[in-house]
Amino acid sequence: MRFGDVTAVDRLDAVIESGELVALLGPSGCGKTTTLFLLAGLYRPTAGVIRFDGAVVNDVPPERREIGMVFQNYALYPHMTAFDNIAFPLKVQKIPKNRRREMVLEMARLVRIESLLERKPAQLSGGQQQRVAIARALVKRPKLLLLDEPLSNLDARLRLEMREEIRRIVSNVGITTVFVTHDQEEAMSLADRILLMREGRKVQCDAPDMLYLRPAHRFVAEFLGNPPINLLSARVGAGGRCLLLNGGTPLTDLPEDIEPLPPETPVVVGIRPEDFRLEAAGVALGDPSACRGKIAGRVAVRETTGRETLLRVETCAGAVRVLAPTGKAPHPGTAVVLTVEPSALHLFHPETGESLR
Ligand code: ATP
Repeated sequence: MRFGDVTAVDRLDAVIESGELVALLGPSGCGKTTTLFLLAGLYRPTAGVIRFDGAVVNDVPPERREIGMVFQNYALYPHMTAFDNIAFPLKVQKIPKNRRREMVLEMARLVRIESLLERKPAQLSGGQQQRVAIARALVKRPKLLLLDEPLSNLDARLRLEMREEIRRIVSNVGITTVFVTHDQEEAMSLADRILLMREGRKVQCDAPDMLYLRPAHRFVAEFLGNPPINLLSARVGAGGRCLLLNGGTPLTDLPEDIEPLPPETPVVVGIRPEDFRLEAAGVALGDPSACRGKIAGRVAVRETTGRETLLRVETCAGAVRVLAPTGKAPHPGTAVVLTVEPSALHLFHPETGESLR
């Protein structure tokens, strides 16, 4: 999809199955909203095809696509009550009044706003307005529900509540749903699959666990995870199975599912902060590991978030982030030793960023 010289969405090839809840995730400007608007029929693709149930819909206008859409700001009619907002699409379709009432009440029950139907949007909280907007989008029984940043206008507590609510509502109706978000946690917790985009292209489309555990590209590994993954420059050692950090410190063996690589091959090694094992001052804090390499370091910064503590450890390979249980997290200045299991490593090509696993 091009806007003049800008290619907003580029050869995005994806199949969304019936009943799936899919998140379009990626940094600002990567083409999420454009993709959603293409699905809605608000934009016509400048190249390529969009199919619904096998039929090309490029020229089908939005009102004939059997789609329900909830915009980021909910776009409720301010002068109408919640009831009239939900009933509006049915009125346009000239559905008789009694039937309309039945359908609105059914939706109101589903989204749990039966007692609020006579209120106008200004008399509703953000979460309640969103429920009205979802009810309005679903009342015509569309085949596809599109949500644009559904939780971004809600405060932190409501966001958690509405996350569960959206999951409950869409699985109750069994509707195929696509939602846009730039929030990895929201995508991870809500979606069956995440379509991660960068600069208009698909980088990976997979279940949240798979994206986290088996990132296909360095970009995926960096985008998902909080605190972020550590990326270290390394090279393959003499036997083809050992990884050496800059300076020659052995890190660990290559994971078993990787064929030996030629000695001296440069690789970028990704290690999640929770995958380091930590030993300090001769006292083993984790299980003594079978790894061959041990990285010596010193704790520079310690930030407690409650159950877990994030450490910044200065090592010969640079500063790394390490997550440790708070009760066992050493204080700044403590000398520590880090080890990592080969199976926890993510390996990327230093130039293309593609995963080597
Ligand atoms: P955000 O998270 O910031 O909302 P996004 O991932 O939804 O971003 P899009 O809004 O789809 O990104 O925009 C993708 C690219 O296309 C951006 O470079 C944007 O500037 C450009 N773009 C989007 N809409 C238009 C338009 N109507 N005219 C020109 N360029 C556009």
